[in-house]
Amino acid sequence: MRTRVTRSFSFEAAHQLEWHAGACKNLHGHSYRLEVTVAGELDANGIVIDFSDLREIVQQAVIDRFDHTYLNDLLANPTAELIAADIWARLLAADLPLDRIVLWETENSRVEIAT
Ligand SMILES: [Zn+2]
Repeated sequence: MRTRVTRSFSFEAAHQLEWHAGACKNLHGHSYRLEVTVAGELDANGIVIDFSDLREIVQQAVIDRFDHTYLNDLLANPTAELIAADIWARLLAADLPLDRIVLWETENSRVEIAT
């Protein structure tokens, strides 16, 4: 039985979108929230992945890279969509059996990438 497991994370970061006609052109910050969902069959211990292993992998691959940074130093055009794409690639490179990620830029706005 394929089962999905999700863990939530958060990080603080600043960015500005040079091309934006409105307020996003100005330097500003967000408290991003990230949900990472992996999926798979249960192993002999009855789990898909140990929650603490999932936390460690996402912490190293994503949170340590983005937390308290100026995102424009890391990505040429750090829209929520392109930040999510970068996160997706990093987690795939870390060998996680990814099912979905959701990146919340504000409490009302989120981007989702799924298989
Ligand atoms: Zn913004």
